Amino acid sequence: MIVMKLGGTSIEDAAAISNACDIIKSRSKQKPIVVLSAAAGVTNALIRCAELAALGKRAESEVILREKIIERHYTIIANLIQGLREQDLLIRQFKSYDEELRSLIYGISITGDLSPRVIDFVMAYGERMSTAIVTEALREAKVRAELMDSRHLMITNSSFGRAEPLLEPTREACEKLIRPRVEKGIIPIMQGFIGANAQGVTTTLGRGGSDFSAAVIGTVMHADDIEIWTDVDGMLTADPNIVPTALRIREMSFREASELAYFGAKVLHPSTLLPAIEKDIPVHILNSRRPQVHGTLIKAQIDPANVPVKSISYKRGITILNISSTRMLGSYGFMKKI
Ligand code: ADP
Ligand code: ASP
Ligand code: MG
Repeated sequence: MIVMKLGGTSIEDAAAISNACDIIKSRSKQKPIVVLSAAAGVTNALIRCAELAALGKRAESEVILREKIIERHYTIIANLIQGLREQDLLIRQFKSYDEELRSLIYGISITGDLSPRVIDFVMAYGERMSTAIVTEALREAKVRAELMDSRHLMITNSSFGRAEPLLEPTREACEKLIRPRVEKGIIPIMQGFIGANAQGVTTTLGRGGSDFSAAVIGTVMHADDIEIWTDVDGMLTADPNIVPTALRIREMSFREASELAYFGAKVLHPSTLLPAIEKDIPVHILNSRRPQVHGTLIKAQIDPANVPVKSISYKRGITILNISSTRMLGSYGFMKKI
């Protein structure tokens, strides 16, 4: 069994989704569980809608909802799904998403209240939408895919906006709902990034959290491999937006990769590797635009002959203060004053 996570750019339009379906199909013998992000840009658009609503700009918010979210998905459905009945069912589903989001915008604009709990609920639509479409596209490609609701699988605490997965209840839920399906040859399609607390209230794991979702699911299910499919060839020697000539790193240790992720290499959510380390599950970073490239393998032990410095990452908005004191003798409370 493997877990495959596909990021937003890997499912951003009809062509990308059809390519993603080929990749998923190519792995069907390995019994994949598929974890998906929202289509690229959709989470940001949902946040914008909520923020505008909270400022009382309901009409502007509804324009973004229509143009950047609903119509975008309608275009994907029209260009991707062949069956008219299936198209129709999906469009009906999206009509209710549209209505629900409009009601939410209305509610937020009246109360002006945008709590982390509300914003989590709004953001969750992005992943719910992408998974609905990809499941249907896989079915048309004769794959036995089934849409799951991660809010019944990824059980978290109630820290809205950066909820922490609770491994034991998540494991129990996955054993009950995911394992039997995988054993029957079904490919479960679930939302990354979102979950729910014990009361069933929607939570999210923090921006970029779908990588983390994949790792948690891989860990509780004892997967053989966790594949993170994205838009670059793997973990690179630097951020390619800043250093376009950055090179792919073939192998790295969990420690190296988590340090890089923590210090700004956006290709992995910083918490991703923690659960994988515990169960020693290899993590592959792969390029959905160039699936033939071997990507980066992250595992516990790597060849000691490997170069010691692999990659440079950086974080914006950090200030380092060097503080020195000439006279510390008896200067009680110095650190506190600082
Ligand atoms: P996804 O939507 O698939 O999760 P992200 O945008 O979150 O993708 O992460 C992939 C991006 O991370 C790359 O397109 C690249 O711009 C950026 N990135 C930053 N640092 C690195 C690095 N060291 N190696 C690879 N990619 C990096
Ligand atoms: N869609 C979420 C985000 O944009 C999660 C993810 O893509 O990993 O932050
Ligand atoms: Mg990401």
